[in-house]
Amino acid sequence: MLLFLQSIVSESKILGIFATSNEKQTYIMNFLEEKILLDGVIKEGNILKVDSFLNHQIDIDIMRQMAYEFKRRFRGVEVNKVLTIEASGIAIATLLGNLYDVPVVFAKKNETANSTDDKYMSKAYSFTHKKQNNVFISKPYLHATDKVLIVDDFLADGQAAHALIDLVHQAGGTVAGIGIAVEKGQQQGGRILREEGYRVESIAIVDAMDWRTQTIRFREQPERKLENTQLKTDDFVF
Ligand code: 5GP
Repeated sequence: MLLFLQSIVSESKILGIFATSNEKQTYIMNFLEEKILLDGVIKEGNILKVDSFLNHQIDIDIMRQMAYEFKRRFRGVEVNKVLTIEASGIAIATLLGNLYDVPVVFAKKNETANSTDDKYMSKAYSFTHKKQNNVFISKPYLHATDKVLIVDDFLADGQAAHALIDLVHQAGGTVAGIGIAVEKGQQQGGRILREEGYRVESIAIVDAMDWRTQTIRFREQPERKLENTQLKTDDFVF
């Protein structure tokens, strides 16, 4: 099943076209899949560029919808801190922290490791920048009592997520869940994290993409419902 970047707009909902060998079918995408199809650019090297709404310019409406979607998916899960890693996770984390009304902490990258006495420190290899980053959080911002919802823009090999999990565990805290905007399902991070027992909720899961044809295949998720494309504050009672 291959989704093409040409989409049909029908009654304000975008229907993705996917083609099997003999047939064409339609299904309803969620708001983030729609946005990726409309504005995402697939680059050589298995990179999805979403600078126009997530990684450079920030589309607040999309961020808001993601925050509501995470809150909905993690309904019933106790959370007293939202954690991300700089830089692109911060926008999503901020809106989500606002919904939960809990502090948002972001891990910093590449600070000099002269004194780590007052910091928890881990390491993450960056898939996009092809380099190892030191990842830090100052000790006053993570506690043993914390029930942490980790969020990030992308999940690829799981390096960033594992570094954040490591930091939470160093503090003695608990990982309540992991919320990801775009999971690249052809990379191993999501599978490994789920096998490790973490609850990973990804709003869009890309199972394949081709930069030459600009085609993308999303994993169908049980959560995919018509309502998800039109999230509004009033639709949710938390
Ligand atoms: P991981 O640590 O899971 O290997 O990679 C996740 C991190 O790499 C994310 O925080 C994101 O910054 C970056 N990343 C990985 N793949 C992509 C991609 O296809 N597009 C963008 N924009 N960032 C990516």
